[in-house]
Amino acid sequence: MTDVQRSLVLVKPDGVRRGLSGEILRRIEAKGYTLTAVELRTATTEILAEHYAEHEGKPFYGPLVEFMLSGPVLAVVIEGQRCIEGFRSLAGATDPTLAAPGTIRGDLGRDWGLAVQQNLVHGSDSEESAAREIGIWFPGL
Ligand code: ADP
Ligand code: MG
Repeated sequence: MTDVQRSLVLVKPDGVRRGLSGEILRRIEAKGYTLTAVELRTATTEILAEHYAEHEGKPFYGPLVEFMLSGPVLAVVIEGQRCIEGFRSLAGATDPTLAAPGTIRGDLGRDWGLAVQQNLVHGSDSEESAAREIGIWFPGL
């Protein structure tokens, strides 16, 4: 049964700063997903408040927003069979120390000892989140 999905991926400011955007896009394409939209963007507090609404009130929320405003992000929409779960699997666990080798966070991420995990990428976690997040970053897509 076909289950072609779209997912919202962000290369976070640490990934852009470290010159890893190409490597991350390469892994997405090598997996067979299509790049539907790719845009270097500077986030705003308004966009991040919507994007991270589920985390408002958590101790890392303030540092997370500050980190996401610290430089440009690469906003990407990917498309492919079960790409929502598939990209989460490519990205690896949230904590780069625990992320499995072979994953983006496991191979390329590290714990910098900061208040927020600088873990290179964001990927939507469900079809509902993907639709919501694509609407935030690429209204009209
Ligand atoms: P994921 O990005 O793996 O879906 P979450 O949605 O739980 O993870 O969290 C969003 C982002 O907030 C994470 O990617 C990470 O940058 C940061 N974060 C999450 N949990 C923590 C934590 N306990 N301490 C510091 N930063 C965190
Ligand atoms: Mg999440």
